Amino acid sequence: MSLLLSLCLAHAVAAPIDFTAAGEETASFLQEYLRTDTVNPPGNELRGAELLADLMAREGIPWEIQESAPGRGNLVARLPGSGEEGALCLLSHIDVVDAEGERWPADRQPLSGVRDEEGVIWGRGALDMKSMGAIEAMTLVLLHRERVPLRRDVVLLAVADEEIHNTGMRYMTEHHWDELGCTHVVNEGGIGLADMFFDGQPVFPISTGEKGVLWLRMVATGEPGHGSVPHGGQAPERLLRAVERVRAREGSPHWSPEILELLRQVGEDKGGLAGALLQRPALVKTVLRGKLMGNPLTRAALTDTVNVTGFGGATSPNVVGAEAWAQLDCRLQPDTTAEAMLAELTALVDDPAVRFEVLHELPAAVSPQDDPLYRALERHTEALFPGAVAGPVLSVGFTDTIFARELGARGYGLEPFLVNEELLGGMHGDNERISVDNLTRGLEVLYRSVEEVSVAPGGAWIEPPLHVPSPGEGGVVELPLPDPTAP
Ligand SMILES: [Zn+2]
Repeated sequence: MSLLLSLCLAHAVAAPIDFTAAGEETASFLQEYLRTDTVNPPGNELRGAELLADLMAREGIPWEIQESAPGRGNLVARLPGSGEEGALCLLSHIDVVDAEGERWPADRQPLSGVRDEEGVIWGRGALDMKSMGAIEAMTLVLLHRERVPLRRDVVLLAVADEEIHNTGMRYMTEHHWDELGCTHVVNEGGIGLADMFFDGQPVFPISTGEKGVLWLRMVATGEPGHGSVPHGGQAPERLLRAVERVRAREGSPHWSPEILELLRQVGEDKGGLAGALLQRPALVKTVLRGKLMGNPLTRAALTDTVNVTGFGGATSPNVVGAEAWAQLDCRLQPDTTAEAMLAELTALVDDPAVRFEVLHELPAAVSPQDDPLYRALERHTEALFPGAVAGPVLSVGFTDTIFARELGARGYGLEPFLVNEELLGGMHGDNERISVDNLTRGLEVLYRSVEEVSVAPGGAWIEPPLHVPSPGEGGVVELPLPDPTAP
């Protein structure tokens, strides 16, 4: 076979995707997305949903917008597959938290979407998480352009109000989860950290689960009275004693398989004496215990935490009320139930005049590491970020994934971007930004992972339908089609 012919055949089989060009396209979209004001409150996520819808419409991908309330738009776009496997959901939130523009450079403001001379894009949401939304949207676009035959539907889901009440994802899981049909979810959760354990070793924690949430009001009661005569045992004093007991509590480490596996992989990559130590769970649990429990973040990852986050119950200064309360934010390991934590706190406080009221409860949920999507994310991250280690973690905070896991979906949290501590501080802080290089690599990690778990080798490409039913009305809506006269 001539060289020319074999080159032609190779091309006919699969032209490689130009990820540099796709990264540039993603960057331009992200700039526009960052300029779209979806600061929550009030959110106005419909604006962001419409921007994503425009992109889908230009590419001929069916989409719909579901509003949980006026202006609180959630976008769904779908590429159909053969249905051999359940749908894969690429999840993101459209809303962003507010920013203090006066603390940012004047020419790189939170809603500017400016790209500076170093190829860095600035704006609130550059990391949390419009960048992830942008690479998810681009992944759909590329699968569609490449006419990749799919064995499962690939769904883009961008929701409102993650930052405050999770109403977007709650609405979608309560009203539309069955029709979405997603068995797997990719969302925020982990992000690559330079020098996490050792200098020069980037670590990408992939969140396979989230700690449970138990928000409590600890209420102390007692005889009310005049402030001029201190009595023992009135409500504020009882509350103070209870709070002191709660604060003195030292949690004990729960050595989850996830943390031991992440440390093992870090150790394997590192080598040497430190590497050997990290690969032996018995040594990690003894020699490293003090170090891990001494750092607030790793301690939170290892233990059930109880954090006193506020107080109430005061009236006027000269009145001792019948009740005083503190609010507690408890985050629980997967093997700790809310009942067990309540029993522990009750025993610890040891005062019949103090009761606990449950304000909110979400059980912890963990997805298995032994999953093709998890493995694909791990492998492609390590391939595209030289020298990186990717491994599982249980997140200390929760994301919208928790609602999908509750309904049986497997969820994996990874923003495939590499940041240092300063850049990480931009999330909910000042000067949030992302480099186009990061965005491009992240896009390739996500695209390759999604393609690997969704492609139907030898299968047929399925063109998405031109009409999509409008849920709730049972009718159909006209899809905006690409303008054939456009250049
Ligand atoms: Zn977020």
